[in-house]
Amino acid sequence: MKPSILGHERILKLLPSLSSQSLLFTGPEGVGRRAVARWYAYGLNCAHGFPGCGQCPSCRLEEPTDYLEIAPEAETKTGRKARNLQIRLEQIAPREDGGENLLDWLSTYPRFRAKVAVIDGAHLLNEPAANALLKVLEEPPAYARLILVAPSREMVLPTLASRSLELAFGPLPEETLHGLTRDPEVLAYAEGSVGRVRWALDNPALFNQLAGRAQGVLQSLGKGPAQTLEALGPLLETEGGLSYLARKLGQSLPPEDPRRAEALLSLHQAQEALSAYVSEDLVLNWLGLRLWAAAQGRETLSGH
Ligand SMILES: [Zn+2]
Repeated sequence: MKPSILGHERILKLLPSLSSQSLLFTGPEGVGRRAVARWYAYGLNCAHGFPGCGQCPSCRLEEPTDYLEIAPEAETKTGRKARNLQIRLEQIAPREDGGENLLDWLSTYPRFRAKVAVIDGAHLLNEPAANALLKVLEEPPAYARLILVAPSREMVLPTLASRSLELAFGPLPEETLHGLTRDPEVLAYAEGSVGRVRWALDNPALFNQLAGRAQGVLQSLGKGPAQTLEALGPLLETEGGLSYLARKLGQSLPPEDPRRAEALLSLHQAQEALSAYVSEDLVLNWLGLRLWAAAQGRETLSGH
């Protein structure tokens, strides 16, 4: 079955002609990097070449053949929770008590022509795993294609990035998403991510809840810091919740209003802190105060 791809025409045109065995797909979450990797895998193994015909034995498979996705895991073997998500050595190279891993998987021939391995979260490889992967990238089997997926090139170890050809995925333009929805709220939440549009359309109740909560934060700003804090909590727990709030906030105040810039800056800093694994409670408390103060046109003591 061929996955249908929205947008990214330039990349789809380019991919079939590339001979590089190691690619780096960069871009924001949900824009379709994994979908394109699967499309690529179908095309490589299609009896008739690109794009996958949908008819031959390989294309008829529900999942692309000889296709492996490796993603970061949070749990350690001992059951102790790892502090950060990581791709660990046993996912890349065989270990005594390990399970499926990239090296073993690559050591057998493909059923048709190619094997495609996706390292989803290449910026989250721990050091031993990155070193093991580097050896694969230096001398991959002729039938292998490796696709590293990461938010940006800068976040990937230079030794890995320098051996890979980068294809940058941008957010999808709104017109492209219009095929799925024209709901302005969903489009504001999506920010060019087809993954978010699909989530919102598949989970209308959850999405309405999210929209209601963002509205709740905006209303709380006129009340008090405790109300802001309370309204903010659930938004932090939803993927994309804070950037959706930023959009709503941006729309609710005129561009020249100094409170707007201050509030948007706070939201941006909170997102950065969360992606650096600063404790959610800490970020929540800080952001609640900052947002409320920004809305009053004041600066907090810790602000500058
Ligand atoms: Zn085919």
